[in-house]
Amino acid sequence: MVDILVIGEHTRGLLDSTTKELLGAAQRLDGKIGVAILTDEVLDKSAEESIALGADEVFVIQDPMLKRSAVEAHVTALEQLCNHINPNSILLGKTIVGSDLGPRLAFRLDTGMAQDCIGVSQISSSSEIVATRPVYGGNALATIAFAGNGPHVVVIRNGTYAPPGNNADNIGRVTLFKAQLDPAELKVRQLQTVEKPRTGIRLEEARAIVCGGRGLGGPEPFEQLSELATLLRGAVGASRAACDAGWIDHIYQIGLTGKTVAPDLYLAIGVSGASQHMAGCTGSKNIVAINSDAAANIFHEARFGVVGDWRKILTSFIETVRELNEQHN
Ligand code: FAD
Repeated sequence: MVDILVIGEHTRGLLDSTTKELLGAAQRLDGKIGVAILTDEVLDKSAEESIALGADEVFVIQDPMLKRSAVEAHVTALEQLCNHINPNSILLGKTIVGSDLGPRLAFRLDTGMAQDCIGVSQISSSSEIVATRPVYGGNALATIAFAGNGPHVVVIRNGTYAPPGNNADNIGRVTLFKAQLDPAELKVRQLQTVEKPRTGIRLEEARAIVCGGRGLGGPEPFEQLSELATLLRGAVGASRAACDAGWIDHIYQIGLTGKTVAPDLYLAIGVSGASQHMAGCTGSKNIVAINSDAAANIFHEARFGVVGDWRKILTSFIETVRELNEQHN
């Protein structure tokens, strides 16, 4: 049986990066690691991948009712699995699926849950865990301890942990678990899936993000930001003010009410650095800011910064990156 259960997410037969990161988090805790893979299709490569990334056991729950959108069926299947294997802790990613499943699963298991965590660790010499999460818009960190017995549910932000190394020689077990699901339980019926055409790298997976704020003054500069993002092999993001102004779609919004990212490089251009914005990007390894106001909050968070008008800086910055790229190719 396993001590830590990672709730896996997968797309087109492969593990999502968030699940790989959760396996990185699980390896820092003591105990056997399990991964739950729920699918409405035949078993794909994600079980194999999980073992190569350090899972001791993969529980595959296959049922036509387990469509990605059928959250009620997922909760019931996971509740049955958890009651069967009784893990100490359950890790989910802060994705649309994980943020929805986590509280529902904790409720069903009558246990505690910590949402939006940036760390999970074990209290020494015990199986109890504590989680760390930003509070007050990212201005403080809270340490969450759990009352009572587990399993304790922890939802972890993407980008918090590095995925473990992949080792095809790892040995693990794949167990098929049959869940008892009742179609009457499904309150939501999925009629159709429409995939938004994907251009470039997903914001959550980008190692470099070029983020534009209200200081850009309009939608057109986002084309320049996109050019720079392409040169950096990254993605474009935006502050809520830029999205609210209609300059760019809200799917690019970073912050408390947008996406949470943790790239190696976060380039903030014309972004003031309000706490609600920083709540979505403080996990970035290097924040670089261009802002005309030397007193802007973003400079408190930035590792490097340029005080000035982005219009006078960005073109030569892009040219320099292009030249450096050419030198290295
Ligand atoms: P501003 O605060 O207007 O800053 C623009 C910056 O551009 C300024 O610092 C200015 O000096 C600089 N600038 C202007 N002209 C130039 C120039 N030519 N060259 C260089 N710099 C220039 N915000 C988010 O981003 N994400 C969220 O998820 C989010 N959630 C929120 C949730 C709640 C409940 C609330 C209350 C607010 C939320 N906000 C969020 C809004 C947040 O408080 C800020 O209003 C917002 O982040 C400001 O965006 P901004 O930095 O682009 O704009």
